[in-house]
Amino acid sequence: MESMIFGGSSENRLGRGIGRFVPLLLFLLSLPISASAALPKRVVLLLDGVSYRDVKTLQDGVTITNNGRLEYHRAFTDGYFPVSRNISTFPSTSDVAWTEMLGDRPLPGYQRTYYSDAANAEIFQNGVSTTMEFEKQMHWQVESGFRRAMGYIHPQKSFREEMDELVGNFLGATNVCDNFYAMIRSTDDAQHMSGDILELLFAVDDRLQALRKEYRAREGRDLEILILSDHGNNHAGAGKRVEVGSFLEQAGYRITEFLHDPKDVVVPTAGIESWVEIHNMPVETPKLLSLLCHLEGGDIVTARVPGAENQFIVMNTNEERALIEWNPVDDSFRYTMERGDPLDYRLAIEGLATKNRLSPAGFASADDWMAETMRYRYPMALERIARAHTRNTLNPATILVSLRNGYVHSGWLVKTASGLATVGGTHGALDAVNSVGMLLCNFAPTRDTSTGRVAAQFGGFKGLRNYRAQETGAEWFSKKAQAMTTIKRTPVDDAGYCPLPDDGLFLRIWTPNFSQLSRTTPVEVTIEKSPRYAEQSRQASLKPRDALHLELDAPLAFDSRYERVYKLPSPLTLSPQNNYKISGWIKNGDAERLFTFNFRTDRDGKPVAY
Ligand SMILES: [Zn+2]
Repeated sequence: MESMIFGGSSENRLGRGIGRFVPLLLFLLSLPISASAALPKRVVLLLDGVSYRDVKTLQDGVTITNNGRLEYHRAFTDGYFPVSRNISTFPSTSDVAWTEMLGDRPLPGYQRTYYSDAANAEIFQNGVSTTMEFEKQMHWQVESGFRRAMGYIHPQKSFREEMDELVGNFLGATNVCDNFYAMIRSTDDAQHMSGDILELLFAVDDRLQALRKEYRAREGRDLEILILSDHGNNHAGAGKRVEVGSFLEQAGYRITEFLHDPKDVVVPTAGIESWVEIHNMPVETPKLLSLLCHLEGGDIVTARVPGAENQFIVMNTNEERALIEWNPVDDSFRYTMERGDPLDYRLAIEGLATKNRLSPAGFASADDWMAETMRYRYPMALERIARAHTRNTLNPATILVSLRNGYVHSGWLVKTASGLATVGGTHGALDAVNSVGMLLCNFAPTRDTSTGRVAAQFGGFKGLRNYRAQETGAEWFSKKAQAMTTIKRTPVDDAGYCPLPDDGLFLRIWTPNFSQLSRTTPVEVTIEKSPRYAEQSRQASLKPRDALHLELDAPLAFDSRYERVYKLPSPLTLSPQNNYKISGWIKNGDAERLFTFNFRTDRDGKPVAY
């Protein structure tokens, strides 16, 4: 049977492979499900944007009106332990929060449109159809961009379809090991569009109860269920759009895509959210910070202290101001009130002092701060602000503004278009309603935690789909990205197995076919200008039609059947501040395309990794 899939050596395997799969699939589908084809032990359901308080409400019980009669209902009670809090990142947004929960390499930016320091340029991506690492790691999620967009328009319908498909896929998942990971995003879409989240959660409970029954009948044991969410929702209605652009322009700043002058600011904007990120030259940070305290709709403003790696300023709209200091060696924090108490943390400091949890210098550990402030208006704010400006993305903002509930940040067009529908609420801000996601489990008691800690309660979320062993692709890779990957899932993630010789740029390529090829079979690489920008390149060294060809034949020595890492020849000088496309092939008989992706160059013409 194996020859049906891999047989034939010189044809284009990817193209022809589909046709060959069909008879195999039909054959497999006709097989009776045998005892040896067991279903996974556990389903891990990533339920986007569900607040702790909503699940708590359902576990405690709610009274609802049904045809004029009052009825009392509860959900998630049969076999589930009490729900726990899962405090999000700041900003409390999906991509950064899920990435942190799964221990993946940090993303280039908080949003899919972001500012790249190395390129000194705003990079635009399409948020609805670009797939992130945490999404590829799911055994099941909605993949089509069209259907994702539909989730915003018909969230209730999308939700029922997503649950149906999820259950169907789980019951067919006999090739997955112990854990089946699935992501449902229409729970978040529904809340953005004013859907009834409690109704959706009742439906989740019903669906999972039915699945548990069927599972027990088939497998003779209970299905383990773990449900996680990444942030909350402020349920604050449509909200008023903050005029951050015109506010900054009136103060003499220019909203641009590049930072050439201290008066330039970049404000990447995607979707409708309750926070704003600002990228500026550090010299301008103190002035901007004081200014942004007076932005209508602002609540909390944070910044990294220019020139100080681990110090951060937090201010509120009354210009109260405190200094946050982080000691990364023992992961401890100090909160020094310079003027007033912007986070309202005076009681937290007293609480820590009473419990003898403060060092003589006034530092307490991240875990102690977490325990003390878990139920505060701004939970775990010191750690979340510090991580927001350092580790949650590869291009942290210089200034972040957390908005008051009832205000939103969005592009003018997006806000106008969304005015045609009912908008329910959003998230992203630092406060509890935006930030408190949840974890709910039926096989082990859980405890209140955060997106950076939750993996530790579940053995590091083992058995995520290893998409690199099943698909082809490539990405830029660097020592920094490797070091910032907190859960090492593959040999390449771990400097112990795959040491990178220097701080330069590497190309990481994966395909299942590497396992059948000698290590020295070269990968052919072509680098050319992205057509869209070709007209800018008249004076550049690489003419629009020209392409640079490389033959990579010396991968770094480490042990992986499906991955290779190559150092790029240096100097690899392209034209500065430009957009390029890189493609790779294996020349083995007929060429097989492995990957294509776009990248930018910096002012020296070097490729920018993020
Ligand atoms: Zn989310």
